[in-house]
Amino acid sequence: VSHELRTPLTSVVSFAEMLKDPTIGSLTEDQASYLEIIDRNSLRLLRLIEDLLLVAKLESHTLPLSLGLVDLPDIVGQVVTELTPRARDRGVELSVTTASGPPVRGDWVRLQQVVSNLVGNAISYTLPGGSVRVVADVLPDTGHWSIAISDNGVGIPEDEIAHVFDAFFRATSASDAGGSGGPGGTGLGLAISRLIIDEHHGRISVQSPPGVGTTVTVRLPYEDA
Ligand code: ADP
Repeated sequence: VSHELRTPLTSVVSFAEMLKDPTIGSLTEDQASYLEIIDRNSLRLLRLIEDLLLVAKLESHTLPLSLGLVDLPDIVGQVVTELTPRARDRGVELSVTTASGPPVRGDWVRLQQVVSNLVGNAISYTLPGGSVRVVADVLPDTGHWSIAISDNGVGIPEDEIAHVFDAFFRATSASDAGGSGGPGGTGLGLAISRLIIDEHHGRISVQSPPGVGTTVTVRLPYEDA
């Protein structure tokens, strides 16, 4: 179904794009603003379809993973660099500490997607003046890497934590973050993150003690030397 939806929607997106081309003819102010709404919503729908397709593939274990030796500090560093402007715009302090350690066997792009989604959420659900801290550590006793993303944001009510990895779950606290949580979030970020981490034989968990903020922890097994 996702494939069937994607093709016509891609066409809507590209024809809306063409209408913006001044050589085709100029638009009135109203027309331009309607076009902007078509554009924004069709892109949102396209993102949602892409994410649904990804969930379907992950759930049926048919997503091809491009496995290699992945340096997690490299991913964490890159994600933090990419999201620093967004944190700054929101008035949220973003800091990172990474240990060095053995590589993980995994798909770089997918693991980067997970870390980016979790750090992005932490920024979105933290109010201006708050902070987000990312810590990547090696746990030699268990043979795992741990990546903990902690914020002192709006948190997730205790009785809702069990549902955070459900598709389209939105905590009642999400609106406290002001408007629409993650910019363009599809409500599938955590569901996808968990499925990707499962595919890597890792674990992901969420803690959100009342009044403290949220910590999402990812554990991934590392390759023995
Ligand atoms: P989205 O952010 O697109 O709504 P996600 O699957 O990424 O979807 O997250 C699901 C819900 O979990 C969010 O709507 C929000 O209510 C809650 N959530 C996720 N991360 C955090 C966080 N760091 N702090 C508070 N709430 C969060």
